[in-house]
Amino acid sequence: MKYKIINYLSPIARLGIRKYSFFFPLGLTIFTAGLIEAYDHFITKNLTNGSFLTIFVFIVLIIYFAFRDGRKGGLIAVATTIAYYFYIVISRNYTGWALIEGLEAIALFSAVYLFLALIVGWLKETIDELIENETEARRGAEEGKLRLQTILDQLPVGVLMADAKHHTLEGNKHLYKILDRPSISYLETIMNFESDSASNAGKPMTAKEWPIIRALIKGETVPPEEIEYKTKNDRVVQLRVNAAPIKNKKREVIAAVSTVYDITYEKDLETRKDDFVNMASHELKTPLTSMKLYVELLLSRMKKNNDPGLVKVIQNIKNQTDRLQELVNDLLDVSRIQTGKLHFQRENFEIADLIQETIDVLQESTNKQKLVFLGQEKISVYADKFRVYQVLTNLITNAIKYSSEGTVIIIKVSKKGTKAIISVQDFGIGIAKVQQKKIFERLYQVTDRHEKTFPGLGLGLYISKVIINRHRGRIWVEGEKGKGSTFYFTLPLVRN
Ligand code: ADP
Repeated sequence: MKYKIINYLSPIARLGIRKYSFFFPLGLTIFTAGLIEAYDHFITKNLTNGSFLTIFVFIVLIIYFAFRDGRKGGLIAVATTIAYYFYIVISRNYTGWALIEGLEAIALFSAVYLFLALIVGWLKETIDELIENETEARRGAEEGKLRLQTILDQLPVGVLMADAKHHTLEGNKHLYKILDRPSISYLETIMNFESDSASNAGKPMTAKEWPIIRALIKGETVPPEEIEYKTKNDRVVQLRVNAAPIKNKKREVIAAVSTVYDITYEKDLETRKDDFVNMASHELKTPLTSMKLYVELLLSRMKKNNDPGLVKVIQNIKNQTDRLQELVNDLLDVSRIQTGKLHFQRENFEIADLIQETIDVLQESTNKQKLVFLGQEKISVYADKFRVYQVLTNLITNAIKYSSEGTVIIIKVSKKGTKAIISVQDFGIGIAKVQQKKIFERLYQVTDRHEKTFPGLGLGLYISKVIINRHRGRIWVEGEKGKGSTFYFTLPLVRN
């Protein structure tokens, strides 16, 4: 109640409130004039006295109301005061010079009072407007923040925001859920992340290595990284985290934002899938190997007994088991790559000899295309012979598979700098430019509704790429759709 009265009367408390009264300034100035009249009539009993008090009191009232109620309040107070001054001149029966002096005084005071009321009132209104704008802006910013926070909290991904000025870190609901913590603060991140609670590719990570901190301190945009994180409840989560700095017009980093995906489930599924492929290919390999041995035994006996019909049947079975064995081997290789168990035994050898050997073996199984080896220059490379044989076989069998009967396939080898370049060229269906990079991805096969579908799993080129890259070489393809393709790969030369 007490505060209500103070708030109502105090002009300071009313700053920023644009509610200007009408009756309060009118009532109080009339009431004051009444008081002064009473004072003159009954206390001093001198009606010509008290003019100084009248002037002083009304100046105070006019300033007060102009400050409390703006120009409106000031003008009401001025109008009442002037009316009261007229009343004094009339009620005191001034005549002659006294009347003229009285009217002159009223005119003078009116001008001064008006000036005061307008200036102070205008000041008050300006302050009110400024305060209102400021409040509005603050409310707008707060509402914007609230809206953003609501959106962020609804996102099914963790979002982390760092503010360089206020040294704060803020996350959305999902982030706290992923990390098993109620909140996060900047300092805490810097100081308290024990190095074993997070690791990147198996290496313990310090807090400063977190993408968001790197974005904030170094201004780098951090592409997605996989981080393993142990929560306070000892739960291990796999995260995919990226971050980007936010810069002002002067290109200074003022904040950073990071998204955090929980990929634990995906990772788990991937591991289980890899484990399954690994297990299945191992399981398939054993019966297949013995089947192949028996078929070979049968075939040699059939040949001795000289029954051409049966020989053809058994030959077909052998071809199919060979094909099955290749598939199983590819699956095993992929599984080795995924689990980091693909090892190489490097040695020095003549690449031309290996190419010739490969061509001889493959030419035997196809009479549809002619394999031509050009430029049998002696070039020694340092590589895993078996794995390079595997790459050559894959490229040449693909060339055979994807080109028509009667065409040639040209294999070349040359030297460039510290590398040997091997190429396999065919004049078959070719590969569209957009697909030339993709065909080296795992399980990628070019599918075209108008073309016939070729058998295969889309693993050969992926394995070849891994083998060549691990030899610090490069593998790529050139050519055009419909005009054939040329596959190239490089290998390191023997160092003398
Ligand atoms: P696949 O077992 O399907 O042949 P690869 O990894 O060896 O798997 O090849 C991936 C895809 O690349 C193939 O499905 C095919 O579409 C395309 N490709 C590979 N070699 C050639 C080639 N010489 N000519 C045309 N397309 C090819």
